[in-house]
Amino acid sequence: MAENSASLASRKALLIAVDGPAASGKGTIARALARHYGLPHMDTGLLYRAVALNLWRWGGDPGNEFEALRACHELGIDHDDPELRSEPVSQIASAISAYPAVRAALLERQQDFAGQPGGAVLDGRDIGTVIAPEANVKLFVTATPEVRARRRMGELMARGMPAHLEDVLADIRARDARDSQRDVAPLRAADDAILLDTTELDIDGAIAEAIRLIEERAAG
Ligand code: C5P
Repeated sequence: MAENSASLASRKALLIAVDGPAASGKGTIARALARHYGLPHMDTGLLYRAVALNLWRWGGDPGNEFEALRACHELGIDHDDPELRSEPVSQIASAISAYPAVRAALLERQQDFAGQPGGAVLDGRDIGTVIAPEANVKLFVTATPEVRARRRMGELMARGMPAHLEDVLADIRARDARDSQRDVAPLRAADDAILLDTTELDIDGAIAEAIRLIEERAAG
């Protein structure tokens, strides 16, 4: 039966998976979708970043899976900690997220969040493929590496963390390669995901397009 947008917004549970590479706009889009549909939101990248930050502060070795697993325990996330989004932490998060033991340790927390009675919005790399393959809607957000690097530069500058464009671009390419080539839960679009390229879109345009695509898919 065809479903219209009214029924989408009012269905008992609505689970939305938003995946994509770094600085594609997926986080901003996911937060906006959560507001639009009145759903709780989880940025799953923050979990990996929190593990990375723990490990970094202990002086643990990101090349050691056992030490990375230890850093998963008693994970407190201070959303306001500027270090969470720093480049060293981004790199360590990308490295430790390739470990099966780390992914397994963070799985339940994400699946519990996804399983809330009313539904939820989660964004990350493997939400539509591993965490919540049963999601009602899956969005895969992309943009060219150059555009993503410029966006990340803007974010870093806004936080008073100056950086060079070439370094940020190299970091984005390195993370893309690691995230999409790892054996466990690599970054890839689910077969039934809706693709959204935000290269030519500003934030408001990307959000409007995401809502339009979701409503279009829901309408059948
Ligand atoms: O999304 P964000 O850039 O904050 O994620 C940080 C790192 O965490 C990514 O580079 C990726 O390696 C990892 N990650 C992941 N799976 C997720 C979310 C993030 O592997 N669901």
